[in-house]
Amino acid sequence: MKIESIEPYVAHNWTFVRVTTDTGLVGVGESTFFGFPEATAAVIRTFADALRGEDPMRTEYHFLSLYRAYSMRGMAIGGALSAIDQALWDIKGKHFEVPVYDLLGGRVRDKVRAMLVLPYGTLEEVVAEAVAAVEEGYTALKVLLFEPGHHLMRHAEKIADMVARIAAIRKAVGDEIDLGIELHRNMAPGDSVAAIREFEPFRPMFVEDPIPPDSVLSFGAIAAKTRVPMAAGERNTTIWEFREYIENGVAHIRPDVGIAGGITHTKKICALAEAHHLGVIPHAVPSGPVATAAQVQLGMAVPNWEVQEHRRQDQEPWTLAVQHIVPVVNGFFEPVDAPGLGIELKVDALGGIPPAPPAGPTAVREDGAVAFR
Ligand SMILES: [Mg+2]
Repeated sequence: MKIESIEPYVAHNWTFVRVTTDTGLVGVGESTFFGFPEATAAVIRTFADALRGEDPMRTEYHFLSLYRAYSMRGMAIGGALSAIDQALWDIKGKHFEVPVYDLLGGRVRDKVRAMLVLPYGTLEEVVAEAVAAVEEGYTALKVLLFEPGHHLMRHAEKIADMVARIAAIRKAVGDEIDLGIELHRNMAPGDSVAAIREFEPFRPMFVEDPIPPDSVLSFGAIAAKTRVPMAAGERNTTIWEFREYIENGVAHIRPDVGIAGGITHTKKICALAEAHHLGVIPHAVPSGPVATAAQVQLGMAVPNWEVQEHRRQDQEPWTLAVQHIVPVVNGFFEPVDAPGLGIELKVDALGGIPPAPPAGPTAVREDGAVAFR
C-alpha cells in the first residue's frame, strides 16, 4: 500500500487532512492548532510531497522523519504531524478492519469518562449549568473559574469571587462530582498560589494552567507551593517537553492529540506519565470531531487516561464536518465499534461551515495594561 495524496482542508478553525492510498483506503485526521489553521495546512502541503509514494503503515518512522526533516519546531508543525498521523492510523485500522484502539493494545476500559466544560457566566448561571450537567449523568465538570471580568478586579476581590464561585458549585453538586478548576493562564505565580490555597477545601480534582505557558520552571515553582493536583501541557508538542512538566510537579498531563504528534506520539507521552504514576486528562476543547474521535481511541487503550473534556457537541458545527460524532451517553464517550477512527469527513460540506469567530480583544487590567494570558 502506498500513499497517493495528502490534502488539507480548513473549515471553522479546524485543519483536517485526508490521506488517500493506492488501495482506495482513505484516512482522516485533524490538527488542533486552532489559532492559525492555515499555517498547519501549509505545513501539511509541504509534508505531502515527502510522503507521496510512501508506506502509510510506517507511522513511527514518518513522525520522526518529518519532525526532524526541517529542524523547525512548534505548533504548526506539531499540528500537521498530528493530523497526518491520525489519518495514517485511520488507514491502518481500516486495513486491518479493527478500531484503532485494538491496534494500540486493545481496550483497557469499556467507555471513556467525559468531563463537561461549563461555559462562562454569572455565579448563578454557572451553578445552574453544573446542576443540569449532573442531572444529565456527568460525574466530572470543568469550571472556567477565572472569568474575563476577573482581569479588572484587584487581588483580594478577584480571589474572593473565585472562591465564592467554586464554593457554590461544590455545594450544589455535592462531593460525588469531580471538579476541575481552569485558571486559563490568567494569573501571576504568587497571585495563583494565594488563590489555589483557598480552593483546597473544595477538593478540586485538578487546577489547570495557573500562569501563561511560557515557562515550565515557573509552573513547577507554583506546583511546589500548592497542595492540590496540578494539570498542564495543552500547548506542548513533544515527549521531551512533557518530560519537563513531569519533572516539575505536574499531577495530570494534558496532551492534545491534534498538536502533540497524533496517536503515535501522544501514546508515548502518556506512557511517560504512566511511568511516574501520573494521570492523563487530555486537552480536547475546542477540538473538532475528528481529533475528539482520535482522543477517544487513545482513551480506550491508555491505562492512565482519566477523564476527557468536551463542550456540548450540539453547540458546535461538528455534524456538518463528519457523518456522525462520538456520542456522550450518561457522562461517558461511547466509542464507535468501526474500523479506524470510526469517522468519515464530509469534504463536500466543509465549505458550508461558518468560520469560527475571531479571537476577542486581548485582555487588559483596570489600568489598561495587557493582562496575563
Ligand atoms: Mg486549558
